[in-house]
Amino acid sequence: MKLPSGAILTLVRGDITRQDVDAIVNAANETLLGGGGVDGAIHRAAGPGLLGACKEIREVRPDVRCPTGEARVTTGFALPARFVIHTVGPIYRSHPQPAVALRNAYLSSLQAARQVGASTIAFPAISCGVYGYPLDEAARIAVQAAWDDSDELEEVRFVLFGEATFQAWSAAVEQLGA
Ligand code: ADP
Repeated sequence: MKLPSGAILTLVRGDITRQDVDAIVNAANETLLGGGGVDGAIHRAAGPGLLGACKEIREVRPDVRCPTGEARVTTGFALPARFVIHTVGPIYRSHPQPAVALRNAYLSSLQAARQVGASTIAFPAISCGVYGYPLDEAARIAVQAAWDDSDELEEVRFVLFGEATFQAWSAAVEQLGA
């Protein structure tokens, strides 16, 4: 599907660590020191240099290198992608405004991609694993963010791991009516 910016939006089932794009997005936690899920997979595939680069990112408060809704960039080390954009989605049950925070995580990542000159970017389903975000609402927010701000990009790809996640994203794209 074509976005208003002229970029294409694509949905794929699969593993984000294998994507041949300029930048992949990591659904990290605020420490940026690695975790489970997609974060663990990205660190394993990138190799130990990625953790070293994350440790060099300045803490904005104790144990917080990337506040929820913001993004930080490192190189991709052994990944096919040149950059990793680390962002932090909300923990659905405990965040006061999870929809705002999730949208900000997507928008901050798109902005970070532009800042490093990436033109193709791949996102996982941020917050849809351990952080417990309901899939249908998360999908609508993700697709809307791409619709609203993909300026200067050629492709925004969502890489969905499970069938239910893929279906939720497909429905959200259909709802946009394009
Ligand atoms: P969060 O803490 O933000 O919820 P998780 O890593 O637990 O992050 O889950 C986010 C989403 O990423 C989930 O839909 C999960 O199934 C998916 N996921 C896990 N591993 C991968 C991977 N290698 N590639 C793409 N998506 C993945």
